[in-house]
Amino acid sequence: MEPKISKSKEEWKRELAPEKFQVLIDKGTEPPFTGKFNKHDTEGIYVCAGCGQELFRSNEKYDSGSGWPSFWNPISNDKVELVPDNSLGIHRTEVVCGRCGGHLGHVFNDGPQPTGERYCINSLALDFEEGGI
Ligand code: FE
Repeated sequence: MEPKISKSKEEWKRELAPEKFQVLIDKGTEPPFTGKFNKHDTEGIYVCAGCGQELFRSNEKYDSGSGWPSFWNPISNDKVELVPDNSLGIHRTEVVCGRCGGHLGHVFNDGPQPTGERYCINSLALDFEEGGI
């Protein structure tokens, strides 16, 4: 496990663009079909927009039709942390960055094989590094 990054809300606010702060730190959700990685098929690695940790590979991304970038697997299980989320009166599983704790999205069990998982991730929580998979 890589060292944890711990920053105050004020520090994050200084470093992140407001729309990224709203998702990563305030656990917001971008409107569907608006994110720059929803339809994005270039080969490469998706990294955390908060701390740069590698999170997902382009060859494990698929089009779920949800309007958000969807992956059936993280690069490895220690890159993300799964947290029970009972907000909005429904039980979901939140996905946060395993290194900085930034909110990424949620994971559902209606994804494709071989995992059956759908990591539903905000484009605003990601940056992209071309190549290298
Ligand atoms: Fe992070």
